[in-house]
Amino acid sequence: MTTHHPDLSTLMSYSAGSLPDAIATVVAAHLSVCSHCSRHVQEAEQIGISLLEELEPAPLSAGARDDILAMLDDTEQVAEPAKPAKQNVPDNADVPAPLRHLLGHYLDDLHWKTMAPGLKQFILPAAESNLRLLKIAPGTCMPSHGHTGSELTMVIRGSYSDELGRFCAGDVADLDPDVQHQPVADTHEGCICLIATDAPLRFNGLVPRLLQPFFQL
Ligand SMILES: [Zn+2]
Repeated sequence: MTTHHPDLSTLMSYSAGSLPDAIATVVAAHLSVCSHCSRHVQEAEQIGISLLEELEPAPLSAGARDDILAMLDDTEQVAEPAKPAKQNVPDNADVPAPLRHLLGHYLDDLHWKTMAPGLKQFILPAAESNLRLLKIAPGTCMPSHGHTGSELTMVIRGSYSDELGRFCAGDVADLDPDVQHQPVADTHEGCICLIATDAPLRFNGLVPRLLQPFFQL
């Protein structure tokens, strides 16, 4: 059961295909565990399809028709992408499916990089520096920070609390630039979360600010 969801506007942008890749990955991960939001996205897609159907068909010029036929010919010649060989892919049963294939290792076996005591990160190679996993030890406090852009966070394992409430596995925090928060991992298990940002974070403390360039935050 998830209690925190992406904003409706984020879901609409997702269904329109207009979100940056990193943020879209977090939304896809949430949709795989949240039927409530999946329904919203299906409805938005249905509205998009109805709008397309209402468009008046415009006649094609002979040239455009030929171009489209040529494009279709090219498409037919594209070979089927090779299916990846079945390797010993870890099952990562508690990881949402859209994230699983990006990892290639068990969550605990990733090359976690220590950022501060109790705080490790793993930047997902497929998405440059905009998509990362953070592993926060039980009871550890993240430095207080704001954002210069949007931040979408999904809890993968464990839970954390901040000014906005308690976030458990599957929950998403959809943060606007004006939100200032200081997440603290809950004491029993700690927390692993998936974070997508579209602009650098804005730390208040001097030390985190000095360290920021080293961790691509
Ligand atoms: Zn949801």
